[in-house]
Amino acid sequence: MFDFMVEIFPLCRSLTGADVRATLDAVGRHVPLVVHEVPSGTQALDWVVGDEWNIRDAFIADESGKRIVDFKRSNLHVVNYSEPIDAVMPLAELLPHLHVHPKHQEWIPYRTSYYERDWGFCLTAAQLAELDDGPYHVVIDSTLQPGSLTYGECVIEGASTDEVLLTTHICHPSLANDNLSGIALLTELGRRLAEGPRRLTYRLLFIPGTIGSLVWLSRNETHLANVVAGIVTACVGDSAPLTYKRSRRGDARVDRAAQHVLRHVGDDTRILDFEPWGWDERQFNSPGFDLPVGCLTRSREGEFEEYHSSADDLDLVRPAQLHEALEALLKILDVLERDTRYVNLAPKGEPQLGRRGLYPKVGGAAAQTDQLAMLWVLNQSDGGRTLLDIAERSGLPFDDVSRAARSLAAAELLAEAEG
Ligand code: ZN
Repeated sequence: MFDFMVEIFPLCRSLTGADVRATLDAVGRHVPLVVHEVPSGTQALDWVVGDEWNIRDAFIADESGKRIVDFKRSNLHVVNYSEPIDAVMPLAELLPHLHVHPKHQEWIPYRTSYYERDWGFCLTAAQLAELDDGPYHVVIDSTLQPGSLTYGECVIEGASTDEVLLTTHICHPSLANDNLSGIALLTELGRRLAEGPRRLTYRLLFIPGTIGSLVWLSRNETHLANVVAGIVTACVGDSAPLTYKRSRRGDARVDRAAQHVLRHVGDDTRILDFEPWGWDERQFNSPGFDLPVGCLTRSREGEFEEYHSSADDLDLVRPAQLHEALEALLKILDVLERDTRYVNLAPKGEPQLGRRGLYPKVGGAAAQTDQLAMLWVLNQSDGGRTLLDIAERSGLPFDDVSRAARSLAAAELLAEAEG
């Protein structure tokens, strides 16, 4: 995952444009990806797909032609979605178009102008301090014209049409935690999910923030009844604790699965209630859709100091943190995969487990987790309660409960409940 981040870090991603396509090309080398092109002007619920933005170069040069601010050194130097300009102007005229980080002198801030035509540069406070009265040659060699919005969709079909929606935003240029980490995580997840047969169907969306989910929702409204769970993922590479934000419903199966897994992963994980802030979960959880979609992160949007600045670079992300997030996400999905209801076929008294090789031959020792899990599953499997219900009630990890159910089913003491 980290190597993949290194590979696509330099691309100047945005809501639209060539480097979004290049990013999706890179993702598509690892997972089966369908790339959709949605023309500018397309209505998406209350929004409209805007013009496509592409950029080749940008700089502020002094009278000698020396580049003082240069897009080629960092793509954060240009306000993302800047309209083209080629002009000579004094500092006084340039100044309203310059942005510095509010707190850190040495960082370049990341700024966008998606929905308002404007242009601008972002620079360090030191660069700004060096500017004299000018004049300056100001060039942004960009195009902002009708084209399309591009997003990627990877469907991994399972036995059931019940579907898990997994999404990440792909619209940020050279920023690592927000949100190359999410892109890398979802790509690796797709690769893993495609390895074996699955009960559920998985739909992975690589979409530009906000407008991307609005476009997808507007084109897939008739299909949404299949979505039984969803997770938006972003900012999974930094050192903040694993964090799950519940869906608007709050008690959806995905909320309970995530809560269960994070509680068993470690003490320093966080479970947060829904709020209409963050990333695309805002759209999926809007009242007209109310999909059971939560959000898995480490830092939350805006929570880390380096957020939306040049300091959100590859040094901020650790392979081990990415790996832990992937493992947690796989575990949550595993709960969703295996959370079924069983019926105890020998419910009158406890069945004799020893005779079936399911109980230690020597008695007297304190109950082992395996035995305890079997007794819980037998006691609770009345056809109404699921394995996650049993894991929650017993306080045992879902894995142990699920393994106990498999052993009991193999011994013909349990059968999957109908319907
Ligand atoms: Zn962001």
